[in-house]
Amino acid sequence: MPSYSHYIDSLLQWGKRNCRAFPWRKDISPYRILVAEFLLQKTNSEKAVRAYEMVMQQFPDVRSLANALPGELAKCIEGIGLRYRTDRMTAAARAIVSEFGGVVPDNMEALVTLPGIGRYIASAVLCFGFGNAVSLIDTNTARIIQRYWSFSIRASRSREDKELWEFALRLVPQSNASAYNYALIDLGALVCKSLRPACDYCPLITECANAINNQGKARSAIKRTPASASTFPK
Ligand code: SF4
Repeated sequence: MPSYSHYIDSLLQWGKRNCRAFPWRKDISPYRILVAEFLLQKTNSEKAVRAYEMVMQQFPDVRSLANALPGELAKCIEGIGLRYRTDRMTAAARAIVSEFGGVVPDNMEALVTLPGIGRYIASAVLCFGFGNAVSLIDTNTARIIQRYWSFSIRASRSREDKELWEFALRLVPQSNASAYNYALIDLGALVCKSLRPACDYCPLITECANAINNQGKARSAIKRTPASASTFPK
């Protein structure tokens, strides 16, 4: 069984040196995190930077976004596609103004009532915007948890696996939740990739169940390979 202390210490150390510096990770507010998460849906993070900066320039707070004219917001995000999210963003902003006095809610129950906001975006706002110790499950973070802990995901989509969310929650440190979740997200994006995980560059390799399993398979494959005449120098 991999150890928790190795997992958490290695991830946090790796994150300090390798986490990416996106604008939504520097100048932080719940509103900014909300906007960033809308833009990051199905979108490469690097590509979302320009759109994020344009949205922030034109709509620096929730009320300005609520009052956005049709087309204004679409122009900001035309470079990253998925125009349907402009309707969701303005609808969410309007609901925050009309139902929460213009203040982004600080609890899961209220956040998931907003248009276009599911558990992942709500969790990101709570973690990165409010500093709450909550888990974040997307395909990248789920993959690391699955591989390191040998956790079996039962739902067809990892985001919908309730047991995974619960298991992941137990891994989140009470302090440093943002740093932990950013490290997990970035390790999944940069190192523990879906098809070819770069285990040799991973801080978790010595205790990762998947890496250990693969090393074992490689060793037995070498043992099973019969020596041929060409194996030895003449
Ligand atoms: S050791 Fe390999 S499989 Fe395990 S978490 Fe790291 S990159 Fe992923």
